[in-house]
Amino acid sequence: MSPPQEATYLTVTHLLEHLYCPRFTYFEHVLQIPEHQEKRFKVQKGREVHEERQHVNPGYLRKKLGVVRREFEVELASMAHGVKGIVDEVLWLEDETMAPFDYKFAEDPGQVYENLRVQSLLYGLLIRENYGKPVTRGFLCYTRSNYRVVEIPMAEEDFERALRIMQECFDIIRLGLFPEATKWTARCPDCCYRNICVR
Ligand code: SF4
Repeated sequence: MSPPQEATYLTVTHLLEHLYCPRFTYFEHVLQIPEHQEKRFKVQKGREVHEERQHVNPGYLRKKLGVVRREFEVELASMAHGVKGIVDEVLWLEDETMAPFDYKFAEDPGQVYENLRVQSLLYGLLIRENYGKPVTRGFLCYTRSNYRVVEIPMAEEDFERALRIMQECFDIIRLGLFPEATKWTARCPDCCYRNICVR
């Protein structure tokens, strides 16, 4: 996969916006119309997460997940894929693999939503490329469910799916393609692009 020549890096947040509606990529990166921050959709990683979360107890992580080392707020970039992001925690596990660990300021909904799964996969890709270690799983920590930790298994086909989403983004930017609207029409009334978006 090749990012567009002129592209700076896409962030993981850009890719989450793309998942919310691919037209965000078109309006923001092709037409260069910035989102209005006060009206933007609720990106899962809300700013308050950074303010209110506490780090999970290291003893718990060691015992439950086999964590032998961790780093916090790690900024990673992939030249190969043209993406960058900040991982809440990068974990080294006792089975010689590594994993992303991300905090969600929310209750555990009992299932892992696709956007959070893809976000974790992208962080997994970044870790794999930057540290040269296998990544077979990621973790989400729901702060409003007593810091419950949920595991996301990661197989090669999952990483390939995340890479396809990145490719979709780059194709829109490089070729100026006008993408299909989101099929979730309930998202449109609150969208900052609703006045210029032809449905
Ligand atoms: S109005 Fe709807 S289709 Fe158009 S950009 Fe917003 S969410 Fe997407």
